[in-house]
Amino acid sequence: MTRRGPLVVTIDGPAGVGKSTVASRLASRLGWAYLDTGAMYRAVTWAALNKGADLDRPEAVMEVIERTAFACEADGETMRVRVDGVDVSEAIRDPQLTGRVRQVASMPAVRERLVAMQRAFAARQGRIVTEGRDQGTVAFPEAVCKFFLTAAVEERARRRQEQLAQAGRSVSREQLREDIERRDASDCQRTVGPLRPAPDALGVDTTDLTADQVVDVMVEQVRARVSPD
Ligand code: C5P
Repeated sequence: MTRRGPLVVTIDGPAGVGKSTVASRLASRLGWAYLDTGAMYRAVTWAALNKGADLDRPEAVMEVIERTAFACEADGETMRVRVDGVDVSEAIRDPQLTGRVRQVASMPAVRERLVAMQRAFAARQGRIVTEGRDQGTVAFPEAVCKFFLTAAVEERARRRQEQLAQAGRSVSREQLREDIERRDASDCQRTVGPLRPAPDALGVDTTDLTADQVVDVMVEQVRARVSPD
């Protein structure tokens, strides 16, 4: 049987669950391209704020998207993101920026546009591991393998704190926990592209697993579905 379209593995789940780390490691183990869709929503938010757009007006944000050049490239285990040639990879992780992303991510027109960009990326690359909130449900319902990650909120706050500390930022665990809970609520409640597992997604609770243990489980599942070539 010949397969039409790209081969896609989706990894969805809430903030701080370890999606980026496992998605990029899985991609490099498989030799596939990696896409961090959270970085796309972050980059659009950064561009909109930088250009003084009103984040309450979807038309203003859409105009920014149309007039801005977004580019991303793999850089070890992360993705480097450029907006009009400016490297914003660190700036888009700023906790204050993070707090604004959900406003942009709940705009249906923005989601439609970014999902179209994600599909175009998959078509260009041929084989991708993509991570986000709606990858298995909305962007790639035909994906060959779908994962939905979860972890206890305390552990997610601890991981975020560690990640930020590595970037030289100090934020309290309590603050991060509150941010995560607020983001979860907004990601789950929005009407377009809400955070929820696809019916055919494999759930993985990562609370007590290392990133490599999670990747091992995933590699096994993908290899069972995709023949190597
Ligand atoms: O995954 P990350 O924390 O970088 O995502 C930032 C924000 O972007 C999330 O809180 C969510 O609101 C939004 N997002 C989304 N859909 C995706 C990926 C991210 O709405 N596919």
